[in-house]
Amino acid sequence: MSEVTPSNSDGQAAREQVDVLVVGAGFGGLYAMYRMRALGLRVRCIEAADGVGGTWFWNRYPGARCDVESLDYSYSFSNELQQEWRWSHRYAEQPEILAYLNHVADRFELRPHIRFETRVTAMQYDAERATWVAYTNHGPRVEARFAIMASGNLSAPRIPDFPGIERFNGEWHHSARWPKDGVDFSGKRVALIGTGATGVQMLPKIAAQASMVTVFQRTANFSVPARNYPMPEDEEREQKAHYPALRKAARLQNSGMSRVPIPTRSALELSDDERLRVYEALWQKGGSARMMGAFTDLMRNAAANETLASFVREKIRSIVKDPAKREILTPCDHPIGSRRLCVDTDYYETFNRDNVALVDARRTPIQEITERGVRTTDAEYEVDAIAFATGFDAMTGALNEVSITGRDGIRLRDKWAAGPATYLGLMVHGFPNLFIVTGPGSPSVKANMVTAIEQHLEWISDCLTYLDEHNLATIEPTADAEDRWVEHVNEVANGTLFPKATNSWYVGANIPGKPRVFMPYVAGLPAYIKICDEVAADGYRGFELQKALCLVTGHS
Ligand code: FAD
Ligand code: NAP
Repeated sequence: MSEVTPSNSDGQAAREQVDVLVVGAGFGGLYAMYRMRALGLRVRCIEAADGVGGTWFWNRYPGARCDVESLDYSYSFSNELQQEWRWSHRYAEQPEILAYLNHVADRFELRPHIRFETRVTAMQYDAERATWVAYTNHGPRVEARFAIMASGNLSAPRIPDFPGIERFNGEWHHSARWPKDGVDFSGKRVALIGTGATGVQMLPKIAAQASMVTVFQRTANFSVPARNYPMPEDEEREQKAHYPALRKAARLQNSGMSRVPIPTRSALELSDDERLRVYEALWQKGGSARMMGAFTDLMRNAAANETLASFVREKIRSIVKDPAKREILTPCDHPIGSRRLCVDTDYYETFNRDNVALVDARRTPIQEITERGVRTTDAEYEVDAIAFATGFDAMTGALNEVSITGRDGIRLRDKWAAGPATYLGLMVHGFPNLFIVTGPGSPSVKANMVTAIEQHLEWISDCLTYLDEHNLATIEPTADAEDRWVEHVNEVANGTLFPKATNSWYVGANIPGKPRVFMPYVAGLPAYIKICDEVAADGYRGFELQKALCLVTGHS
């Protein structure tokens, strides 16, 4: 499948030559291998973990599960696969999604392409040979014409730089590096730091086991109930009867999901009573996509947004009994949906338990970790264990962790010092033949990510076919096309309420020193797919295509 040239000394200098390097073996990397192999290309995937699954390999914390319905949060590329695989619940838990991805790796014989427990540390573009050279922490380096970064946009875990963590006497874990054997919190006092989508899923599970949980919340998020249930046979049968059509329908949805109705009216068109009935029905149905997709203008009009925000605030107030906790938990500083809307099972209810305390870490920030626990500006909380649900260096973290050097010695990290710039979220000027799956400037995190991943890899695979058919060696976006895309991404975001949340990971605000730039493309998946398709149909408009030494410029 690949050529390995042995080194003559210690093995470090050995190189493996393939057509395509894939970094990462999650949903993105597995499908990348499948597509590349279908093109007859030799592919090598490098994966840091000792198994496939990406997100679902690493995030083994209690309560981890998807919040896009599993019938949608799954691959569409094989009808046999989607017909045969059976999801046990509306939203599958982490072990089941991991089992699914292992099944995919086996079923499509992808494992032989993967080198596990290996990290790509640096990548360098050799312009003379139009080749990417990837250096790894062990084993041969990989040389490939094309590189696909399927390294994930929520895959670089982040623990805040609290001083003192090394002297903590108890055990501590980050949600995305959770031990394979789980953690037994029975009888323990636990600090849970972070109340994003992860913390919200973790809390009810930990509280059911621990003697005491102290939750440290910095920003109050909105959360809506999941209302998970075992998969009803008729729902599954119905979906499977129409699967191919439903998958197509999913790509016509901003959410990338098949069964979320497309909104047709403004939230402000209805009377207060009518609107409340709509929200109440959606609250009972559960899930975030239907809620945020109830009306056309929830993310465009502050007054419309406030109708939903106040509905959810009322729900929180009606569930949480303790007035002090209620006050701290009620979000007040951002429009609903402008930070990732959480989906929970009994999150707010859990604060009614006697063994759950809540610390307002905005009012009294965490100062340090001590031998005994967590010290804020006004108290020390003694605990036996700490669960960090403190998130990720999102969208750019995994890419910047690799030292990527492009044409003319440009380093991606330096180029992105003031914020990431891409064309279509897929490629970067100065980095020929390097593709990013769900990169900054793509809709990815604002949609069902599996739909977004499949669309990206199909586009990449069509692009490689085009290069081959036209005898082209390289593809790279022009500086102008990239500038205009970045402008467009910002313009679209500025027409919405997303930038009103100035402290979300969408703008990199959770990482001290990270430039505050709104990273996702929020025009919606269908609008994005249309642009990508038009760019391709127009001879890869905005890209420079190089044929051996002669340059062909795609008009823009
Ligand atoms: P990942 O799954 O992150 O895989 C990237 C892989 O690359 C990892 O295995 C990593 O080890 C490897 N890697 C990274 N850098 C290197 C390197 N330098 N060298 C070698 N290997 C490397 N999305 C949804 O749409 N719906 C959901 O319900 C949902 N739930 C989520 C729940 C959690 C807890 C989290 C964290 C994310 C969730 N997401 C969800 C987003 C999720 O990340 C994507 O849906 C999807 O799994 C991403 O797949 P991926 O292959 O692009 O990246
Ligand atoms: P996150 O949303 O970034 O949340 C991190 C939490 O840690 C926030 O509450 C943050 O507070 C807090 N925090 C960070 N630094 C802190 C500090 N110094 N002191 C106190 N608190 C601090 O991360 P996440 O919850 O892991 O989720 C990341 C993304 O992964 C989600 O948005 C979602 O896309 C995906 N995900 C999905 C699911 C799902 O339901 N399917 C589950 C988990 C994750 P601030 O908000 O104030 O920064």
